[in-house]
Amino acid sequence: MDKIAWEKIARQHVIYIEAFIFTHSSRFEDFRLAKFQMDWNKDRISSRGGLYTVKGKRRPGINIAMKRAIPLAGPNRVYEYKSFDGREDIGGFFSTNSEHQLLLHLTHEMAHAWEHFEASKYNIKRRQPHGKEFKAFYKILREKFLNPLLPSHAEMRNIAEQIKQEERAAMTFEYTKIPMTTKFKKAASR
Ligand SMILES: [Zn+2]
Repeated sequence: MDKIAWEKIARQHVIYIEAFIFTHSSRFEDFRLAKFQMDWNKDRISSRGGLYTVKGKRRPGINIAMKRAIPLAGPNRVYEYKSFDGREDIGGFFSTNSEHQLLLHLTHEMAHAWEHFEASKYNIKRRQPHGKEFKAFYKILREKFLNPLLPSHAEMRNIAEQIKQEERAAMTFEYTKIPMTTKFKKAASR
């Protein structure tokens, strides 16, 4: 799929997530994204979500590292931050669908934007970067927009097995290469 198609998909998801937040409670009714950027630069390694200064005001926004958010096709293990990667509700997972990894980035960064918007609007003092408030917002978004799409546990096990087999196949290839190189070196040093 090309960049334009991926951007269209990302934009559609973000519109839904934004609307979900501003209708979630009257406390957030003025939540509107002032910035939504998709960065395809391969050197951009992390996505970001939070507050941005737009027309002199601090307003919510996200910037997605698209090369990271969209994996190569095929079975894939999608990772979250190490400290909560193992959690079932907000952690990493196995999937064969690239859109799932994109949705992880979108819900994660929108949770940051949501959390920072709340803190700034209600003068809440600085919180831990991936602390319990972030996790609570992220969990809400994950359970609404991503978790219902994820493969079942049995399917995830199959995908994990597929990845393992592919890795084993790649290793076998490496092993067959090693003796040849050694042989060549020995012959050369003689
Ligand atoms: Zn984060």
